[in-house]
This record gives sequence, structure tokens and C-alpha cells, in this order.
Amino acid sequence: MTDRYDVIVIGGGPGGYPAAIRAAQNKLSVACIDDWQNHDGSRAFGGTCLNAGCIPSKALLESSELFHRAAHEFKAHGIAVGSPSIDVTAMQKRKAGIVKGMTGGIASLFKSGGVVGLQGRGRLLAAGGQGDCQVEFTGADGAKQTLSAGSVILASGSVPVELKSVPQDGKRIVDSWGALEFDAVPARLGVIGAGVIGLELGSVWQRLGAKVTVLEAAEDFLALADRQLAAEALKQLRKQGLDIKLGAKVSAAAIDNGEVSVRFADGQGEQSAKFDRLVVAVGRRPFTKDLLAEGTGVQLDQRAFIVVDDHCRTGAPNVYAVGDCVRGPMLAHKAKDEGVMAAELIAGRYGHVNYEVIPSVIYTAPEIAWVGRSEAEARAAGVNVKVGQFPFVASGRARAMEASGGFAKIVADADSDRVLGVHIVGPMAGELIGEACLALEYHASCEDLQRTMHAHPTLSEAVHEAALNADKRAIDTLNR
Ligand code: FAD
Ligand code: AMP
Repeated sequence: MTDRYDVIVIGGGPGGYPAAIRAAQNKLSVACIDDWQNHDGSRAFGGTCLNAGCIPSKALLESSELFHRAAHEFKAHGIAVGSPSIDVTAMQKRKAGIVKGMTGGIASLFKSGGVVGLQGRGRLLAAGGQGDCQVEFTGADGAKQTLSAGSVILASGSVPVELKSVPQDGKRIVDSWGALEFDAVPARLGVIGAGVIGLELGSVWQRLGAKVTVLEAAEDFLALADRQLAAEALKQLRKQGLDIKLGAKVSAAAIDNGEVSVRFADGQGEQSAKFDRLVVAVGRRPFTKDLLAEGTGVQLDQRAFIVVDDHCRTGAPNVYAVGDCVRGPMLAHKAKDEGVMAAELIAGRYGHVNYEVIPSVIYTAPEIAWVGRSEAEARAAGVNVKVGQFPFVASGRARAMEASGGFAKIVADADSDRVLGVHIVGPMAGELIGEACLALEYHASCEDLQRTMHAHPTLSEAVHEAALNADKRAIDTLNR
């Protein structure tokens, strides 16, 4: 192994591995150090996203949705399958296969792209400036080696927040990773936290037959989302059977006679509940422990995030940090764009992330997605707001899919016509939001969207009609 690289990336998740690939594309010599280890001890690149986050959760969401549709929707199509059953072992095997294929894909991309993938721990010993940066690499066998690099990109990601009063045993009380690995459908499942992760995991097991209760301390549902969007999503998720309790703060949990007892406080006072399994999904924190030696000059803030500027530069020369370990939303696509930006800047090329246009998607059914400003944010900023909306019940495609709940909403500036935000709850909202991202990135006006032809019958017509509705010119819905 060579001991000098142009770039060393520490972390091989969606922040780190794209940074390494882009650095290699920029003709720089690059190593990516990653120490992800699965529960069975195997190692794999891809970080949280591929091994214990985005990909396995979506694999299970797909399985659970098909199961739910077979049980509840097929009848409406005239398809009789009787009462479907779920083989959790087979479902988990499919998920594991997808994860293995994707993480193996990164290893081959590294190989063919000229990235040296190193499995083990990395620690920044010294930043650059006068000379190279110094990185300590500890291999899987414990052997240490000092490597040097012109630049270092820190992409160490995040780990789940734990609650001291809710001790996890990894079987009955688990974190999000544990909840992706259940070997059976729990009869009664408790979820602490109605954030993106809690809702997605709660949905998976609820669709497979668990009675799911989500305990959320905040009074507001999805506080960061447009209020109308959040209200519609809450209505639909509750209608499906998710028991979402808002203003319910969990104070303790314990395993008692094979059951999980939970104590929480709500508007009515102290309450208790019993579950077969409990998922703690109360957020994530940056994983920056043991990443930096003394005196590197890289600053951590009070919550242990690495301090960076808008170009992901730390205060230390030639050291960048990207993804979940720095400020901003903890999302894989945000991590990826930051990683690529850092690799471009190191190569002396142009690199930029538009922090105004970061899409959020919650992969429940229906999906919930948004980008840009909510109606309340636009009004608070003093914008003369106009709003356009289109309900999926008026979409032929959505009705054909038995998925006519929800709507697409556009928030725009009435004076300039500029689109400021798009908010969708409905079928494939996560795919539809792509058009909205492009619109915001290009500073599109409602008229731009109105004059763009959308294929019929598609779900994307909802975005088109919402833009028309902003000027009370929708064709397929009433212009209120
Ligand atoms: P990570 O993916 O956490 O990767 C960091 C890597 O660095 C890890 O492999 C870690 O082991 C390694 N590492 C850390 N320190 C060191 C060190 N010192 N030496 C060597 N290696 C080190 N986001 C979305 O955008 N869409 C989704 O649908 C989505 N779903 C999610 C579902 C779940 C259940 C969870 C938990 C998360 C989900 N996320 C989703 C969030 C997403 O996974 C993260 O935002 C993303 O993984 C962050 O990427 P990252 O590269 O910054 O960090
Ligand atoms: P997110 O940060 O989006 O993953 O969401 C985590 C959610 O967990 C937030 O909405 C928090 O309000 C919620 N939460 C944190 N601690 C508790 C607790 N003790 N009881 C219930 N909900 C909690």
C-alpha cells in the first residue's frame, strides 16, 4: 500500500464514496477509509445509507406495501388471492441481497475508478498547510500506519441518538437499524419519535400487520413541513391505522416479563403502554468521536458537528467535512452533493451546493415530499404569496392506481410569479419532487411550469395543474 495520496476520504457513506470517486475522476490519487461493520461482522462500503438506512428501509417499504395492496387493494381490481401471508425471513433475505448488491457495487466502482478502498479506522493527525495532512489508518487487524495526503475529506456520518431512560437490549428495545432486522412481525410495536425514520419504520411493520403506536413529544406533526401538507399526511397515516400520539413525551421504558413497558406524559398526565418491541427513533447525532487528534485545528460545535463554511471547508488547511457530520439536514443526497463539491474544489474546479434546494422525502404510502419554502415561511418572509393546489382525486392516473389521496401544492411569489416551494403528499411524491427541484434550481415561474407540456395521464400532471391553479386557470379541478 502506498502511503501518500492527493486525497484521503475518511468515511465511505454517501458523503465519502462519491467524494472519492469524483476525486479520482479529477485525476487525483485517492484512498477512502471506512470502518462500517455489519451485525454479522462483515465489512462493507456505503455507510448508514446503504447498510442500515435508505436502501434497506426502502426494500422493506416496498415489500410491506405489496403485502398491504395484496390484502386490501387487489379485491378492488377483481383479483382474488385470498388472505396473503408474509414470510419475514424471505423478505429479509431479499433486502439483504439488495444491500449486498449495492455495497458490492461501490467496491467495484472503487476498483474500476482507481480509488483505493481501505477498510479500517481513520483519524486525522494533522492538517496541511506547510506540508501534507497526516492520517492514522488502523486496519481491521489492528495494525496502525501513518498516511499523508494533500487534502482530507472527513465524512464520518452520524449514529442514532439514544435515550438514557430507554436502555436498548438490541432485541426488544432497538434503534432504527434493529428495527430493519426484526425476524417476525411484532404484534404490538411502539415507536418513539414521529420523524422521518420513525414514520417509515412504523409504516413498514404496520402494513405487515403490527399494531403500531408512535409517541412524539412535539405537539406539531412534521414541524419542518408545510402545515397543510403535514395535516393531510397525519390524516392519511392515522386513517391507515398508525396510532400517532402527539405531545407524548417518553420518560422511561423497561423490559418486563418479555414485554416492553413504556412511560410517557401527555396532555392528560402520566401514561403507560405495553409493547412487544420498541424502536427508539429520536434523531441522529454526528459521529465525530476519535476522528481528530489533538491540535488539528478542526473545530467541533457544542453538539459535536464539525464546523464548516458553505463550501464544506473546516478551519484547518486542506481539510473538508461533508454529510451528516456537518450542519444541515441529515440526508444522503445532501451528503453526496457536498462530497462531490469538496472533490471538485480540491481539484481546483468549480464546486457549489444550493442549500435552498434540498428535497425532503418521507417514503410512507402515500409519500410526502417537499422542496423550497412552505407557505408560512414565504408569508413570514414578507412575500406576497399565491398558492396553487391540485388534488390527486382529480388525477386519472392516481385513480387508476387506487391512490387518489393527497395533493400537490405550489407556493409562489404573486408579484414575480417565481415558484418558491412545492409540497406533495400522494403517490410517488418522491419522484414528482424532482421536477420541482429543477424548477427551483432554474428559478422557474408558475408560467414556465404552466407552459411545459406534461404527458397524460401521469401523476406529474398534478404539478402542472397546481401551477395553473395558482393563477386560477386549472383545467381539471375547481379554481378556488
Ligand atoms: P454515513 O452514511 O453515516 O457514513 C459514514 C461512514 O463513515 C460509515 O460507514 C462509518 O462507519 C464511517 N466512519 C465513521 N468514522 C470513521 C472513521 N474514523 N474511520 C473510518 N470510517 C469511519 N437519507 C435520505 O436521503 N433518504 C432516505 O430515504 C433515508 N433513509 C434513512 C433511513 C434510515 C433508517 C436511516 C437511519 C437513515 C436514513 N437516511 C436517509 C439518512 C442517510 O442514511 C444519511 O443522511 C447518510 O447516510 C449520511 O451520509 P454520510 O456519508 O454523511 O454518513
Ligand atoms: P428526527 O429528528 O426527525 O429523526 O425526529 C425525531 C423525533 O423524536 C422528533 O420529532 C422529537 O421530537 C422526537 N423525540 C425526541 N425525544 C423524544 C421522547 N423522549 N419522547 C417522544 N418523542 C421524542
